[in-house]
Amino acid sequence: MNIKHVTVAGGGVLGSQIAFQTAYSGFPVNLYDISDEALDKAKEKIRAWQEAYKRDLGATEEEVEKAYNNLTFYTDLEKAVKGADLVIEAVPEVYDIKANFYKNLGEVADEKTIFASNSSTMLPSQFADISGRPEKFLNLHFANEIWKHNTAEVMKHEGTDRQVFEEVIEFAKAIGMVPLPLYKEQPGYILNSLLVPFLDAAQKLVVNGIADPYTVDKTWMIATGAPQGPFAILDVVGINTPYNLCLARAKAGDKEAEKIAEYLKKEFLDKGRMGIQNGKGFYDYPNPKYLDPDFLK
Ligand code: NAD
Repeated sequence: MNIKHVTVAGGGVLGSQIAFQTAYSGFPVNLYDISDEALDKAKEKIRAWQEAYKRDLGATEEEVEKAYNNLTFYTDLEKAVKGADLVIEAVPEVYDIKANFYKNLGEVADEKTIFASNSSTMLPSQFADISGRPEKFLNLHFANEIWKHNTAEVMKHEGTDRQVFEEVIEFAKAIGMVPLPLYKEQPGYILNSLLVPFLDAAQKLVVNGIADPYTVDKTWMIATGAPQGPFAILDVVGINTPYNLCLARAKAGDKEAEKIAEYLKKEFLDKGRMGIQNGKGFYDYPNPKYLDPDFLK
């Protein structure tokens, strides 16, 4: 495999996880962030990930310390990317911040370096030209809690070199991910292309008075054998996310989205029911009704 030295840019929620997972898989990793303060926060997060790897994966103290020792921390971009075969970008989801980052990165990175963005909503073609190396640019999208939810959606744009695409797929495997190749650009990748319309359809059934949430979940669970229905999934996602999505669509004139936003605000957010994160959403946790054997009767 050609990818041996990796730099992760941005040590926030996802960047700190990507850096640690890569280091845990035996790669030397440089972690770059904008200030010492940001790096201190990243180190704190990584200490928490070490505990999670011990708890969830049965990793030993020695293994998580070894992984930590594979990390080197930088606030100087040029030094951070020197010699890197791959830079994985996990800076904030703000177009101008990313565009500016790629402009600077393109100027200081070695010619061989591949650039991969972890962006959830932006497409590789939005930055490929700014980076100065469109053929070595693609998206590599991880999920939160990477050590448990080990998907890596690898998305080409039209100009991505096929060999680069294959190398990044190999790299994803080498760090314990299941690579999911996307041969063309697709907003939302695979998962959200399925999940967003599915959750939307469920919410429409409820706000239009067709059926109540538990009946919708029950239908889905019995008919498909799935362990959860759409409203249980919405609790995991957190009610804020669908609310914000519907609000944006409502502002663009979508009347049904407006109805859903009003419903989520009135029945859930205003009542402090945020989802699984605070133990109350469509269900009450830790023992949600859909896990009750009688629920499916
Ligand atoms: P975050 O806000 O937790 O972290 C962003 C980090 O980037 C911070 O440490 C910040 O100091 C740093 N930063 C800011 N400007 C920078 C710059 N110019 N150069 C380098 N670092 C800079 O954000 P996050 O949730 O980790 O999201 C990062 C990216 O990952 C986004 O593109 C997001 O869409 C994607 N993502 C997030 C999740 C998630 O669940 N949080 C899941 C998948 C993908």
